[in-house]
Amino acid sequence: MSIKKNIELFIQDVQRICESCNRDSKDIIIVAVTKTVGIQEMKEAIECGLTDIGENRVQEMMEKIESFDESVNWHMIGHLQRNKVKYIIDRVSLIHSLDGVKLADEIQRQSLKQNKMTDVLIEVNIGNEDTKFGIKPDEVTSFARKITEYSNIRLRGLMTVAPFEAEPEKVRPLMKMMHQKYIELKLLNLENSLIDTLSMGMSNDYRIALEEGATMLRVGSLIFGERS
Ligand SMILES: *Cc1c(COP(=O)(O)O)cnc(C)c1O
Repeated sequence: MSIKKNIELFIQDVQRICESCNRDSKDIIIVAVTKTVGIQEMKEAIECGLTDIGENRVQEMMEKIESFDESVNWHMIGHLQRNKVKYIIDRVSLIHSLDGVKLADEIQRQSLKQNKMTDVLIEVNIGNEDTKFGIKPDEVTSFARKITEYSNIRLRGLMTVAPFEAEPEKVRPLMKMMHQKYIELKLLNLENSLIDTLSMGMSNDYRIALEEGATMLRVGSLIFGERS
């Protein structure tokens, strides 16, 4: 199937699910995840109207950025090493993977240097998995309080990579818990924050994520085909 067809079907499905749970599909941002995907395929996706691109490696993002104009929003969705923050800070729209104070220190330092405000999400390890990065669910509130003390970092919400389940329905309880965390974070009304983003849902589980309140979906293989 073509990328164009994949995107059309995906957007139709998003609209259908939004209708079924009384949500406005205009409130949903689709991030096309393009790790290992070529420039040509990426341009095809952008021609279909997608504006947001997600990469999980700094090196790959840097190599690709040059081939696109300023209209593309770049999302860092993978684990971010401190020593690489400086390479992406002036181009990245949203860092999804803030998972520690030391990384926040470096994002603050580089943002101040560039005289910019950097938008971030706190990555939450919602399944408490040893193999995954992210803040433990019960530490989100205290971590969020720390993050909002940085002058050049603006907290926008939460992100999670749910455990992979062949039967996606199984992640629903965790996604409900994420949404609960997100609502709690909103209600804290922390200064220096604008809590409007819950980034969860991938090719395998975006339907459940939408039903449970995700505002941002990160979808790769469904659009571009399986990665080799
Ligand atoms: C690869 C990746 C995705 C997209 O995964 P698909 O299953 O291809 O949709 C989303 N989020 C993160 C953090 C990823 O690394």
